[in-house]
Amino acid sequence: MEKQHRYILLCIIAFLAFSLVAIVSAVLFTYHSIDKETREILNGYTDDPATVCLFVTQKEGSQATARLFVKRNGRWHFERKTKAHIGFNGVGKEREGDKRTPLGELRVTGAFGILPDPGTQLKYIEAHRQHFACDCPGSPYYYTIIDVDTLSIQHTCAGEHIVDAAPSYNYGLMTSYNAECIPGLGSNIFVHCFGTKEYTAGCIAVSERFMRHLVQIADSNTIIYIR
Ligand SMILES: [Zn+2]
Repeated sequence: MEKQHRYILLCIIAFLAFSLVAIVSAVLFTYHSIDKETREILNGYTDDPATVCLFVTQKEGSQATARLFVKRNGRWHFERKTKAHIGFNGVGKEREGDKRTPLGELRVTGAFGILPDPGTQLKYIEAHRQHFACDCPGSPYYYTIIDVDTLSIQHTCAGEHIVDAAPSYNYGLMTSYNAECIPGLGSNIFVHCFGTKEYTAGCIAVSERFMRHLVQIADSNTIIYIR
């Protein structure tokens, strides 16, 4: 090969390598950068004890995006993102049965699942046949996960039979929505695994793989933020 040709070839290779690095950097930067609105909301939690935030953004109808942020050295960092399903009627929950997902801030209050504890710091209820998520307004067990074999007052309403809700309840996180248990405001707003449908009754659903990771890193300060 002539010296001049080798020089041109070298220039082309250098140019291509440079372009590739530039494109990869741009893609990574876009992927990891946090938009202004999200950044402002997250910055509101700088002094908060929370170190994990699941940020859920509605796209259209019951389709949403869930982004996981973790706080290190007082700064929020993007960790991963995934597709999510929310309520059949979208966001803005107001009452029991409206099939909407609540907007704004929720906190994680506990963990449960049909599958064994994946290693969470939260109290984990491994569901067996006797476990129900009571969603009956007026019941003393409204909005709690109960073991019907160990109750002082008998559970007389139907409730959600957890083991029948596989794969949705393979892993679940309980949230602070209607923590006051006001009848009619809605209950059993969980973050759980994808079920067989493209929507939920008001919960947030993500892939089982994502959910398992979330349960592993969540604690009682973990924020679920929906907008
Ligand atoms: Zn009940």
